[in-house]
This record gives sequence, structure tokens and C-alpha cells, in this order.
Amino acid sequence: MMSRDELHALQLDRLRWQVERCYGTSALYRAKLDSVGAKPGDIRGVEQLELLPVVTKEELREDQRTHPPFGTFAVADPSEFREVHPSTGTTGIPVNTIWSAGDIETITDVTARTMWQFGVRPGDVVQNAFAYGLWVAGMSCHYAAGRLGCLVVPTGTGIPTQRQIDFLHALGSTVLLATPSYGLHLAEGLRERGIDPAGLPLRLGCFGGEAGAENPATRAKLETGLGIDAFDYYGLAEVGPTFASECEAKAGVHFAEDYVIVECVGPETGRPVSSGELGVLVFTHLTRQATPVIRYWSNDYARLTTEPCACGRTHARAVSGIVGRHDDLVVFRGAKFYPSQVEKVVRSFPELSDEFQIEIRRAGGGMLVEACTVVAELVHTEPADLEGRVVRALREELGVTPALRLDLFGTLERTTFKAKRIVERD
Ligand SMILES: [Zn+2]
Repeated sequence: MMSRDELHALQLDRLRWQVERCYGTSALYRAKLDSVGAKPGDIRGVEQLELLPVVTKEELREDQRTHPPFGTFAVADPSEFREVHPSTGTTGIPVNTIWSAGDIETITDVTARTMWQFGVRPGDVVQNAFAYGLWVAGMSCHYAAGRLGCLVVPTGTGIPTQRQIDFLHALGSTVLLATPSYGLHLAEGLRERGIDPAGLPLRLGCFGGEAGAENPATRAKLETGLGIDAFDYYGLAEVGPTFASECEAKAGVHFAEDYVIVECVGPETGRPVSSGELGVLVFTHLTRQATPVIRYWSNDYARLTTEPCACGRTHARAVSGIVGRHDDLVVFRGAKFYPSQVEKVVRSFPELSDEFQIEIRRAGGGMLVEACTVVAELVHTEPADLEGRVVRALREELGVTPALRLDLFGTLERTTFKAKRIVERD
């Protein structure tokens, strides 16, 4: 809750420390600064961060390929390394993020703060259905729940839905952590078994790993279906793991700005966009010891504001959450849209289930999509005019009209982890 001026002073101290040590130790960062003729001493204000070049995931990967296994951006003493977290992307070689002993302390504190922010308190029973193993949020939330004085039920994602429901009952879980698609799947499980969520002690849910909880229709379904207050969570393996969460005002995700500097820049210009305008998020680690990133190009789009929040926190917020990943952008007949927009439409129709897919065929394997079909599921038999109403709503939201196919309930695959919304067809 410190003033923005106090925050900037704190950020500047930490930023200078970080850039100085990276320039002195990392061949990658030294080359990047040299390429624009910048020296660590040039940074006399936080806003001068934009003098430095951005770094992409591709560059981190290349740095690790040429300097295996951790690359030159691993700047802490190896004796301090405690955990390695390879990124879980489906394509390419993973980027190895390292947590030092000190990093684990900071990550635990920051994650504990995000959980406090959405209402977790000592004594809560936290059912952690985030994936453990090679997904960073499982571990960080596990540590953080312990720090807050909670009892953790480390279910992860590897157990059947029935057992997750059994644990909700038997152990009296009060907090659920999961992806929104899995949260909806659990709600579906309760409904099918005739269990009234009001009879469960569960009171809070925090949903991350994919966009969703910020979407009003999805939030309403999670809240009604599980009998909870639902909140949105955001993080990235290379940066976070989890460093942004909604507060009780549910007015966007607040970033932990004493931990990372967050910039929002134009995708083409690389220059800061004005407050509330859509841009790409760029992150700089202020306190990370082992594998710090300086101006990491996230490819995630959001609208940032530093307007005061009703909760009193001064940290910047992404209003309406993260709009989408650049990789998920669908470019179809001159229109651009994200799966989150299709989700918004599908979940506003009570006649449809929560599941949906976007089948696309790319022109010559490129970026442009030449055929696009939205697939949704009917909960009951088809009301006569439903198809026309869904198509109209899609056209309004997306600015283009995809084909629509309504399948029977249960046709689309359910997931315990991140849902695959875009399916490529030949
Ligand atoms: Zn707030």
C-alpha cells in the first residue's frame, strides 16, 4: 500500500542492483546492453528501463543451448541452486528456471501474499489441485499455504475427480486451487452426484494456469457450481511462478511490483501504451537471484492501470485479467480474436455446457486461418432458434462469423489440467 513514489524508489534500488550484477556476470545480458551502448550506470530512474533491449524466451533457450545446462543468465553461485523448473511448453526445448535458496524464500512470501489477497487465512485447509512436478504453481502454492499457517492437501492433478470430491468432503477443504477448466469439471462432478455445494465447507477458489475466472460468465459458474468466491491468478514459469492475483474488490489482478517491474508496451512499437490500452506485458526481476530476467517479453496481452483500487493496494492491475497469449491469437478473415472471447459467448448460454473447442485450418501452415469452427455441447435437446442466437453472439463478440457445430453433452474431452481450446485440422 506504499505510495507509487515510494514504490519507484524501492524499485530503482533493486533494479540497479540487478542490472549491475547481470552485466558483470552474464554474457547474454552484457551483449544485450552493449548492443544498444547502455551501461548499468545509465539507469537513474525506473522509466529508463526502456533504454534496455527486451529478452525473449527464444533467446533464453538459445543461451542455454550454447551454455548448457543453465545458460549464462543463471548468475547466482551454483552452490546456492536448490530447485530447477523446466518450462512445460509443448514445443521446443524447455527453458530451465532455477530457484536459489533465497529465491524460494521470496517466491514463498510473494505467493503467500497473493493467497492472502484473495482471502486465505491461517487455519484454512487448502486443496492444491494445481499440478505438482514440472509445473511451478504446484510447488510455490504448497510452500505459501504452509507459510500462511494453512493445512495443505496436495492432491495435484493426478487423481480421479471422485477422489478430489472425496477429499473436499472428508478433509473439509475450505480453499481450492485449480485451473478454471478443472474447477468447472469439479462443479460438473458435484452436480452429477447430486451434491449440494452449499453443504461443503469450501469457501474460496483461486483459478490460474489459463484465463477464465475473470470472465463474468465463467466466474458465475464457478461460484454457483462450487459454492465459493472465485478469484483469478496469474503467473509465468520464467518470471513468477505466481505473482499476480485478484483482491477482494475483484477489479483486476494486482502485480507484486516490489518483486517485478511490469511494463505494458505496444506489440509493434515496443513503447509503453497509455493507461488502460491493450499491450504486451514485459517483466523485470528485481529480487530474483538465480535466473533473473530483464525486460522479458511475455507474449501475454493485458490492459494495465495504476488507478487506486477499492481495496487500497497501490500495485498496478491488469483490468479484466490477461486477455490472451499471442500464440493463441486466431487471425480469421481479417479479424483477430482469442479463445477467451469464444468462452465468454459459449458460457453466456445456459443451453450449452462449459466445454468448447475452436477447430482451425491454417492456410499453408501459416498464421492465417482459412477455416474456423466453434464446437460447443448441448446440455439438453436443441431449442429451435439456439444455433442462430449463438452465431449472432459470436459475430458480435469476434467481429467475424465462424462456423458453429453443436455436439451432444460429453463429446468434448474433459481435462484435469489446462484445456486445449484450439485444435488444428488438416
Ligand atoms: Zn485491489
